[in-house]
Amino acid sequence: MNINSSLSHRSKEPENSALYIVGTPIGNLNDLSFRAINILKNVSLIACEDTRQTLKLLNRYEITNTLLSFNMHNSQNRISKIIHELKNQKSVALVSDAGMPSICDPGEDLIKKVKSNELEVICIPGPCAAITALVSSGLPSSSFIFMGFLPKKKTERNKFLSEISKSEKTILLYESPYRLKKLLIELREHCGGEREIQVFRELTKIHEENVGNNLNMVLNFFEAQEIKGEITLVIKGVEMQDEELNNLSLKKELIELINAGLSLSAASRYLAKKKSVKKSIIYNLYEDL
Ligand code: SAM
Repeated sequence: MNINSSLSHRSKEPENSALYIVGTPIGNLNDLSFRAINILKNVSLIACEDTRQTLKLLNRYEITNTLLSFNMHNSQNRISKIIHELKNQKSVALVSDAGMPSICDPGEDLIKKVKSNELEVICIPGPCAAITALVSSGLPSSSFIFMGFLPKKKTERNKFLSEISKSEKTILLYESPYRLKKLLIELREHCGGEREIQVFRELTKIHEENVGNNLNMVLNFFEAQEIKGEITLVIKGVEMQDEELNNLSLKKELIELINAGLSLSAASRYLAKKKSVKKSIIYNLYEDL
């Protein structure tokens, strides 16, 4: 078994032959750490998604450094170049347009490749829209599921929506303002209008906005307006034991199975297994009918 171990020995930064993954602001340019500024000033080069975007940040901190464009179109070629630089004792910072690189942004392939070349990867943590929204929502945050942008293909998308409808954990989603209404309608279809949701728009920026309550109310709020800005959604997980809607759909399925000819015991056993709940819960539902 291979064991990868790396000890912290960060007395002088940046170190040679290290790739620094640097978190940058998600809006408010003041959200850049001292450590990040030092790294961006002193690495040999900065790999960034869009040079114009990164220049805005560098200008704010009077940082002049070499930029190398690194995006999904040129990443394969640029990965080889960055590895070459690192092997020649250079240090490289990787930033994205906003937030943490590699979170719905380029970086994953590069990081993997750098590690497989036994070169060092050091993360300078910074803001992430998903985590900022989660902690601002007040919804359960000790266990959650981050799904990023939902897939566009219908079958795959429906699989995710169905997973969200049943999830007991808080769900975090990214969405573009142009597709928000469509997503909210789909979420209501799958989860019911009473499901709790918080929508965060333009986090950390001047027009920062938090619209929250349940899907019915949030849809109502956005219905009549043109939506602009960046959006992150936080959806509360279902409370399995006392969730009315869930019980209703279980009752419906139970009746369908019994009408199709299954005994109460067989139908309960089948549903209990399918929904990962105790058989007695299904029996009790039948008694309520
Ligand atoms: N790497 C970034 C991070 O760490 O959050 C995410 C990049 S992803 C390409 C961009 C998406 O993140 C946006 O479409 C939006 O859903 C979300 N996002 C980014 N900045 C945001 C902000 N200020 N407020 C709300 N959502 C934001």
